[in-house]
Amino acid sequence: MYRNQSIKWMAVLVLGITILQHRAAAQPEFEQAPSESGPEHAQPVVSITKGRELSVSLGPNASPAEKRAAELLIDAVRQRTGIELSTGNPAPGSHALVLGTAQSHPLVRDYLARRNDAGRLSTDGFVVAWEPGEKRWYVAGQSPGGAVAGVGRLLRGIRFEQGRLWLPAARFSDAPAMPIRGIYLWARDPYFKSTNLDRYIEEFALWGGNSLALWFELGMFSSFEDPQAQHWLEAYRRCFETAQRVGMKTTLILVANDAYQSSAKQLRISPIIGCPGHYLCPSKPEGARQLLTWQDQLIKSFSHLDGLIIFPADPGGCSCADCTPWPTEGFWRAAQPLGERFHERFPEADVWVAFWHLHHPTFGGENWQQLVKLLGKHRPAWLTGIQPGMAPHHRFAKVTPAEQQIYADAGLPLSLFPEVSMYRNHGGMLVKKGYWEQMRAEMTRYPAGQMRGGWPYSERWNTDIANVAFLCWFWNPQKTVDAVLDEYASWYFGPSAPEARQLLQLLDDGNRAPDREAKVREVFAKLDRQLPGWVREDWRWKEIATSAARLGAGK
Ligand SMILES: [Zn+2]
Repeated sequence: MYRNQSIKWMAVLVLGITILQHRAAAQPEFEQAPSESGPEHAQPVVSITKGRELSVSLGPNASPAEKRAAELLIDAVRQRTGIELSTGNPAPGSHALVLGTAQSHPLVRDYLARRNDAGRLSTDGFVVAWEPGEKRWYVAGQSPGGAVAGVGRLLRGIRFEQGRLWLPAARFSDAPAMPIRGIYLWARDPYFKSTNLDRYIEEFALWGGNSLALWFELGMFSSFEDPQAQHWLEAYRRCFETAQRVGMKTTLILVANDAYQSSAKQLRISPIIGCPGHYLCPSKPEGARQLLTWQDQLIKSFSHLDGLIIFPADPGGCSCADCTPWPTEGFWRAAQPLGERFHERFPEADVWVAFWHLHHPTFGGENWQQLVKLLGKHRPAWLTGIQPGMAPHHRFAKVTPAEQQIYADAGLPLSLFPEVSMYRNHGGMLVKKGYWEQMRAEMTRYPAGQMRGGWPYSERWNTDIANVAFLCWFWNPQKTVDAVLDEYASWYFGPSAPEARQLLQLLDDGNRAPDREAKVREVFAKLDRQLPGWVREDWRWKEIATSAARLGAGK
């Protein structure tokens, strides 16, 4: 029984490593190192059974991100094997995992200098290399974030069992295709009341993510002084600190004409679809001044931000004559001073103008195209680029290939707002291979030279696989959905990965197999019997179990 599972698990690991090697093929040369493993193992691996056999070595100038990555690695090993890895200088004859950048760790610097091929690291790239003669793994990042992503990639190549871990005796390198690898978590109770949130943010960095976006919604509160507003602001600061600790950037999202509930009645909007009545009309001079005062107050309450996304609608908008059509009139009237002010406060930060929902007839039909062209022709100094929405099945928010061309023709940098939460939502983990593949294809239709990445919009925990998929695609837009699912199952299910992978396939919303429900029940029951404790305790298993229960499993 145990051996069988082990063999199946190895098959998934081999597949994962093959994918890594395939990816690495385009990068500097890295060969498979000679095996130290016994003949019973199909894959070259190095076995560790005691903490003193492997020491994690950080450089004297290790960044907070590198230190945190080392802690996350040590945590994962402890949780999954019970082994407490050592730190600092390795004991004579034992193995070392040397982690850092050329700037932070002399051993990494020397290694990169010694291996010319490895030294050509692209921005945020990494090398993970086993050097058998030295008994060392090098995890060398081009940047601290690259080192964190390298730790994540190494972790996903390790096999864990109680009392033992098997590290790959391999060398591979990788670098992201896009500079913005973000996640946008909807600031609501499902995330913000959970004790898992900080660790969740850190795990994005292990998947190569480097930016966290949060929307501060003024309209949730009566005023800036409202204790609730202050409570949420404190939660945002904490999340941003967590993100920064693992080397991620921080991006604030604001809706251009969002207002506190106590807004003056005479300054309010004329009603428009999807917009609360207390939002302010930016065409009323006093309303525009009030918006700017509130936005200033909010922006100044953050000591540091790396970016701002100015949102136009859903919610947002005003139907008065002066604000119509919304994109080039009311919205731009509010967005322009906001962009300017933000740029003054944080000159190094990015500012994106989003176009979500502006294709809706209520917002001027094709007027959004005028705004795109205007920004392309007269790009304000503070503007980094524009952000098209992405929702292939949304009646109004979908973007056709012809419309994608209009965005591209402006010649501006592009980032994406992929909607991974709302389409065919249901309880429990979402698996929507067909939908995700459509999104990936849409992303790759934009010119690669302009597409910078983006922030998938996640409303709840059940979008986790979609989030991971986008983080993978920002690294490599050619990666298949199946390859993402393989890696996901391997990392979060360890020895139960083959069955977990089968279950995810069955939970796919596009799966129409006639015996689907019976199969779900069968595979779920099998998994439920065999899962290691660390998998069972992970919130992901609960999300997957909820999704399986929809189809009759676990009853
Ligand atoms: Zn108005």
